[in-house]
Amino acid sequence: MEKNKIKNFENYAFGRWVKGDGDGTSLYNAINGEKIGVVSSDGLDFSKMMNYARGTGSEVLRKMTFQERGLMLKKLALHLHAKKKQFYPISYLSGATKIDSWIDIEGGIGNLFANASLRRQFPDLPYHVEGNAANLSKNGTFIGHHIMVPKHGVAVHINAFNFPIWGMLEKIAVNLMAGMPAIVKPATITSYLTQVMFKEIIDSKILPEGCIQLICGSARGILDNISSEDVVTFTGSASTGKKLKSHPKIVDEAVSFNMEADSLNCSVLAKDAVPGTVEFDLFVKEVQKEMTVKAGQKCTAIRRIIVPEELLEDVNKAICNRLLKTTIGDPQVDGVRMGSLAGLEQLKEVSEKINLLSNSQEIVFGNNEIDLIGAEKGKGAFISPTLFVNKNPFTNTDCHDVEAFGPVSTIMPYKTLDEAIELSRMGKGSLVSSIVTNDMNTANLFVLGAANMHGRILVLNESCAKESTGHGSPMPLLTHGGPGRAGGGEEMGGIRGIKHYLQRTAIQGHPTAITAITKQYQVGASQNTDGPHVFRKHFEEIEIGDTVITDLHTVTLDDIENFADLSGDKFYAHMDENSLEGTIFTERVAHGYFILSKAAGLFVDPSKGPVLLNYGIDECRFIKPVYPGMTIGVKFTAKEKISQEKKNEEDVAKGIVKFLVDVYDDENETVMLATILTMIKNK
Ligand code: NAP
Repeated sequence: MEKNKIKNFENYAFGRWVKGDGDGTSLYNAINGEKIGVVSSDGLDFSKMMNYARGTGSEVLRKMTFQERGLMLKKLALHLHAKKKQFYPISYLSGATKIDSWIDIEGGIGNLFANASLRRQFPDLPYHVEGNAANLSKNGTFIGHHIMVPKHGVAVHINAFNFPIWGMLEKIAVNLMAGMPAIVKPATITSYLTQVMFKEIIDSKILPEGCIQLICGSARGILDNISSEDVVTFTGSASTGKKLKSHPKIVDEAVSFNMEADSLNCSVLAKDAVPGTVEFDLFVKEVQKEMTVKAGQKCTAIRRIIVPEELLEDVNKAICNRLLKTTIGDPQVDGVRMGSLAGLEQLKEVSEKINLLSNSQEIVFGNNEIDLIGAEKGKGAFISPTLFVNKNPFTNTDCHDVEAFGPVSTIMPYKTLDEAIELSRMGKGSLVSSIVTNDMNTANLFVLGAANMHGRILVLNESCAKESTGHGSPMPLLTHGGPGRAGGGEEMGGIRGIKHYLQRTAIQGHPTAITAITKQYQVGASQNTDGPHVFRKHFEEIEIGDTVITDLHTVTLDDIENFADLSGDKFYAHMDENSLEGTIFTERVAHGYFILSKAAGLFVDPSKGPVLLNYGIDECRFIKPVYPGMTIGVKFTAKEKISQEKKNEEDVAKGIVKFLVDVYDDENETVMLATILTMIKNK
């Protein structure tokens, strides 16, 4: 961003950049208070924006398969990763240090990568087929299943100010994977950073038109246009969240509303983690990190430090010693470890909350006179880390109610683990808590006692410390959210998060009809036995339901003996007919793995052809014992197809075909069912 140039950070609506009416809201550099630009959304037609998304964006995205959407996200992630350097200088304007900015920028891009990889867990279709079929009839002619289709509406993301990039990317990654367009509404105060990243996304032309739009200024009134197929996600304060959640349109139209609100997270030091242990040091380090990263403006920051009463003084001293080393100032100056709050409004608010908390607890660290590095006093939104001690946390309860969204935390003592659990629960619902312990019994008791009030719990000790992502990092593959005060929402969470934007529908009918809809062969559906063996067909020539009925084989005692010799598996039920009393077997039973191996011998068409390899078995059940003298055959049916992207130009074009291996006996009863995975060349 050019120095001293006031910029108008425009909105992006209906496929073009739109300047809001009027003077707009001024945006300021958090370090020196200088004006950096204005935003305005006045005059923007939210209703038109939403209809545009529901039309242009939704129609394109819904038709794409999960694989296509995933590859699109991957491409976008690679593009933004290549451009990442340009976002750092703008991030510094919000008071963020390099590490804070890394979390926001590269954490956000990492989220795109993580979600893109999830494409492999979805079918190669625009919609998802969830779980297995349910048999609803005696003769198997009527079954049920579940499909999940993209909602036809728009995802409206209303975000908090603290992670302007991560906040946007973690959310759009998920709705785009699901096939829904989004309107992104960053908090006004740091929207300049979101806007620059958003512009790069638009300029890359990787996303189809209509997939994302941006409102930089206020979005008051947007929910007046919401309808039942839309999804609203809100991240911010509980008070705003509650107001929006009870909006008449949200209630009347039963709109899905996900809320991530403020939360009084805690970390517990267990009694075994005494001074001198690695765990004690880990605890102190984690608390200090959580207080100062992003100047404490993290929804997951540790606000309550719960420690054994006999260790309170040790913990207090150790944390204060570390906080003393927290150098504060302009994030761009070497040696600065903590930047500023996002703006002067935040400074005022956090200072008020500190005053409120100091009515019921004692400040043990906190300095009005901070030494700033590279920044001028009185201009930026700088604040000292502030540590309280509350010796009576069961009676002085402000620490469980008041969130100071800055580098502020309270130490409190407990006598027993039950008390520690109770204190952790007094936050009335948190995004995250952690316990630092090397004692697995303590870990177990704490987690089971506290889990119903926390969205995530970290058990930290020396064994995982090196690779631990820490108390404060929500991970894309795990659910982020928390009960009660934390909003009761769930975000990300791997494929769980994506399902949030899909409508689950139960479907019922004959297996042939359910096969036609799910594009997965359902047991009992019609089979096609005409034409060449499936191993003679290329990937694109195979149709779901293509079946090979194999020759038959009569199992003998020699088969069992030979297989036992070859494999070394001489389990008594295969080898000793006198040992069968009290078992379900009436004779020496054939090895299940022999049946599977023999099935392969029957269904494989051996000469070289399009099949490249067999790379595993998804599920395998031995359903009925096979004894010598019984005859088996195989119905080998193409069950599901997943196309694969080429890794590079030289890579062979191919896909995965899942085959159902149904081994049946002379009574036409299934003795074994398995799904095998083969890799098959394209033409
Ligand atoms: P906020 O004041 O509640 O604002 C959150 C968002 O709501 C902003 O984008 C704001 O836009 C928008 N907004 C407010 N009123 C609205 C309305 N009537 N219609 C539409 N949009 C409206 O929260 P904040 O100060 O930005 O964020 C700090 C809080 O967020 C803290 O309490 C923190 O704990 C919480 N937080 C929670 C999480 C989590 O994952 N749980 C993550 C980050 C932060 P304007 O900026 O234009 O007003």
